[in-house]
Amino acid sequence: MIKENVQKILDELPEGVELVAACKGRNLDEVREAVEGGIKVIGQNYVQEAEELIKVIGNKVRWHFIGHLQKNKVKKAVRLFDIIETVDSLKIAEQIHKASLSENKVMPILVEVNSGREKQKFGVFPEDAIDFVKKASQLNNIKVMGLMTMGPMLGDPEDARPYFTETKRTFEKIKTLDISNIEMRCLSMGMSNSYKVAIEEGANIVRIGSKIFK
Ligand SMILES: *Cc1c(COP(=O)(O)O)cnc(C)c1O
Repeated sequence: MIKENVQKILDELPEGVELVAACKGRNLDEVREAVEGGIKVIGQNYVQEAEELIKVIGNKVRWHFIGHLQKNKVKKAVRLFDIIETVDSLKIAEQIHKASLSENKVMPILVEVNSGREKQKFGVFPEDAIDFVKKASQLNNIKVMGLMTMGPMLGDPEDARPYFTETKRTFEKIKTLDISNIEMRCLSMGMSNSYKVAIEEGANIVRIGSKIFK
């Protein structure tokens, strides 16, 4: 089933849109089956879970961190992941920079935008994103590669559209600015119920869990 789910989603994705299998809470067999179905990128919210999976699956796939990163997990996350999608404060950006410096690596990151301006969600408000990217760009051992947003969880995906539109607008605006040491390439928006709308609004990375592992 998982295999077929992956293949169906991949068949329907427009070219240039990357599918991240969001696999928090899934076991090794489930994740393996997704990889057999053609998954090339795995998203993980928890460093510990990722570590176990990476031991077995390794670099057959790329690994995106998509959870809320805590300070005491930064060092490990820098070692394990190919990109951290959820940089939501300058403090954590600085910690990633420092850990990357001591690992002798440059860590690609996305800035998490709290497009719904929700109290309970992490991320930078859209109106603060430009300033945030400018500051983050000065940290030499991280590289801002784009933006990520969750958007409010709404029953009707159409209702999420304005939040994706605003994040895309912010993404394009940052592209027009002359900020050194960044490469605005990735716009990660959309989950199982909203990814089609997100793609229409310009997402080139979608993070899908339940529609794959249901
Ligand atoms: C769980 C999760 C997803 C996938 O959500 P589904 O609704 O299961 O597709 C995407 N992004 C993040 C950050 C998640 O935590």
